[in-house]
Amino acid sequence: MENEGRIIDLHSDIYFMGQALREACKAYAAAEVPVGAVVAHEGRVIARAWNQVETLKDATAHAEMLALTAAQQALGDWRLEKCTLYVTKEPCPMCAGAIVHCRPERVVFGCPDPKAGAAGGWINLLEASPPMNHRCEVTPGVLGEECLHLIQSFFREARERKKIDRLADVIDLASQSLDPILKLP
Ligand SMILES: [Zn+2]
Repeated sequence: MENEGRIIDLHSDIYFMGQALREACKAYAAAEVPVGAVVAHEGRVIARAWNQVETLKDATAHAEMLALTAAQQALGDWRLEKCTLYVTKEPCPMCAGAIVHCRPERVVFGCPDPKAGAAGGWINLLEASPPMNHRCEVTPGVLGEECLHLIQSFFREARERKKIDRLADVIDLASQSLDPILKLP
């Protein structure tokens, strides 16, 4: 049996997801949607990345894509055998497609994405049946609340910032219309 005897060490899943969360925090600090990823190979992190869509002006620069590329460079092989990708949010279809091509053994994600997730949230490309050219074992929900909290506070802050910007615009407009009145002798 293929999976017989394999023990999923939840403790190390939490450790590696913590590392992915650290990457997500770097994205947050750079005003990027806070998603982070790491690739572990035989119990060791070989690649880390955070979402850099705005920084690189590249819509494909999702954390998973950058982490996969870095992992391939680290291993000197595009086949990510014996690797696990940890990512703080469920991968989108683009990343899931790339994951299937790189063939890591497992994908562990934090919070689900019911709108655009491609690991079971919206569709499931990682465990498709019949499978694509590779099928990954998926473990969802590791540090899910922490990962979700980070994303939610990012968007809450962004909304607040927008409100403040709008308020500033209103004040600007109001003061411009008051300017001529105030300048009356
Ligand atoms: Zn993606």
